[in-house]
Amino acid sequence: MSKTVIIGGVAGGASCAARLRRLDESADIVLLEKGPYISYANCGLPYHVGDVIKSRNALLLQTPEAMNKKFRIDVRVQNEVLSINRDKKTVSVKRLETGEIYEETYDVLVLSTGSSPLRPPIPGIKSSKIQTLWTVPDADRIRSLIKENHIKSAAVIGGGFIGLEMSENLHSAGLEVSLIEALDQVMAPLDFEMAQLLHENIRQNGVKLFLSDAVASFNENERQVTVNLKSGKTVTADLVILSIGVRPNSTLAKASGLALDGRGAVIVDDTLRTTDPSIYAVGDVIEVEDFISKERTAVPLAGPANKQGRIAADNIAGITDRYTGTQGTSVAKVFDLTAASTGASEKTLVKRGMRKGRDYESLIITQNSHAGYYPGAVPLTLKMLFSKDGKKIYGAQIVGREGVDKRIDTLAVSIRLGAGVTDLKNLELAYAPPYSSAKDPVNMAGFTAENIMNGLASFSGWDVERRHPDAVLLDVREDAELMAFTLPNAVHIPLGELRGRLNELDPEKEIITFCAIGVRAYNAARILMQHGFKNVKIYPSGTRFYQSTHPDTEMSGPMPADNVADSGVADTANAPVSSMRIDCSGMQCPG
Ligand code: FAD
Repeated sequence: MSKTVIIGGVAGGASCAARLRRLDESADIVLLEKGPYISYANCGLPYHVGDVIKSRNALLLQTPEAMNKKFRIDVRVQNEVLSINRDKKTVSVKRLETGEIYEETYDVLVLSTGSSPLRPPIPGIKSSKIQTLWTVPDADRIRSLIKENHIKSAAVIGGGFIGLEMSENLHSAGLEVSLIEALDQVMAPLDFEMAQLLHENIRQNGVKLFLSDAVASFNENERQVTVNLKSGKTVTADLVILSIGVRPNSTLAKASGLALDGRGAVIVDDTLRTTDPSIYAVGDVIEVEDFISKERTAVPLAGPANKQGRIAADNIAGITDRYTGTQGTSVAKVFDLTAASTGASEKTLVKRGMRKGRDYESLIITQNSHAGYYPGAVPLTLKMLFSKDGKKIYGAQIVGREGVDKRIDTLAVSIRLGAGVTDLKNLELAYAPPYSSAKDPVNMAGFTAENIMNGLASFSGWDVERRHPDAVLLDVREDAELMAFTLPNAVHIPLGELRGRLNELDPEKEIITFCAIGVRAYNAARILMQHGFKNVKIYPSGTRFYQSTHPDTEMSGPMPADNVADSGVADTANAPVSSMRIDCSGMQCPG
């Protein structure tokens, strides 16, 4: 009878233990967990802090007793492994309740020790008002701090998944929230322009967002903490949540001589064996292969950890199973929006030395979550990166209010199964008006990609003023739409009049067509291209996207005289005007 000892009893560890029992009824399985709980839903913790998940028990998916009863696994919580003695094939374990130290033998050892939140030595960081969220006791502590200290404001440091989820939950719990991020954007897996959609919504929700500003130091007084930023700005709050990244818990592995990479992640082969054939490692503590680039990387996500636990169990039980890499598919609720991504972002491709137009192409489209004529349709913006020949999809990102998750999953599956952009066009996806459109946004991404490859469509950059400073911006929306917003210095010819007014445009100039979301702009571009205009591009996703990506641009551009008269704006043109932003999401063109 072989004995497997598993260190870490949450995502990867518990998954490994349960699978191993299902495969081998005779195996001796010991699960050692230093914390008080096993198999809990750490992904649900921010929602418990925000009281969206009210019941604490709902987060505790398994108890040691239930796990023992169902799976006959010797589960020992509050048992911390202090060292691995590879020569003797034992681990030294401390019973945290008594302080007793004992040796446990193993035939096979599995490390699923996870990762820990970073707490760099920033001056003042030791304050008890600066908390991290990683475990159930962390959530308990933050909840009771909020309740008992009557906390009214919070500063969240770090705009990654946990920072964003905490900002949203603290905000919905009634706290005044400031979110501070050292990079110029939140949610690093997204490209900047896609993250701008999140920035806009975060600000609309009343959260103070500080970008490109890192923490220099903290000062605590009796009631509050002041966060001093490198820019010289300060943010004072009752509570600080630190969520600036994680590091793998690989101290045990390192001390026992197992090979680690430069980031401190444990090196494993594709069967998840470490450099010691008797020791497997899974989850946040390991280095994995990036599914897209085939480079080595670390991706701390629950899906990969759970699957790796299962694969390790298979291999331990004698069924050869291989881990085929992580593509980083992820989704998060960010206030009113959902942000999701899979595979590589454009900035990652550029970092790898790839160049747009030479090595890859990209597209950004805005589509409705379901048929526009069925109530409740809301736009989602989809960015996709693919090879010049369209045979490989490198990655995709989607931001929207509804239907984001199923589209990103469709794209994630397509990438995993090696689909090209033509396959997206051919996918037959379920359709009825409440759920989708006859041409699903994923199909539309395929059509658009194929148009790009065939030269039927070409897109400008979202930052037209930087990339296309001399281009003519051609607004093809209806007159009424100009009242709401137009791009600076744009020429206006509604789509229906374009064929009759071609002589107003210079065919030698670069022309960038735009409308509200991009569909009429595409039609306009096709008209121009077929009438001899050589350099025509479409502004991706239209004015709605332009506004989100250019938050400082006010309504601008000279209005045609007749429109001004109709709208009545002329009468007040010289008077101070307070601007009002109206959210018309879900409306059909022309809006
Ligand atoms: P963990 O699940 O963290 O388990 C490691 C366990 O090992 C810990 O319980 C630890 O106490 C124990 N341990 C460590 N050292 C020892 C030792 N020496 N002796 C005994 N025990 C030890 N991922 C997603 O994909 N989607 C999400 O929405 C998401 N949300 C998250 C929200 C939060 C707040 C957190 C903290 C994480 C979230 N994650 C999410 C990440 C996901 O939870 C992790 O990727 C996953 O849990 C990693 O699994 P693991 O088994 O490697 O480590």
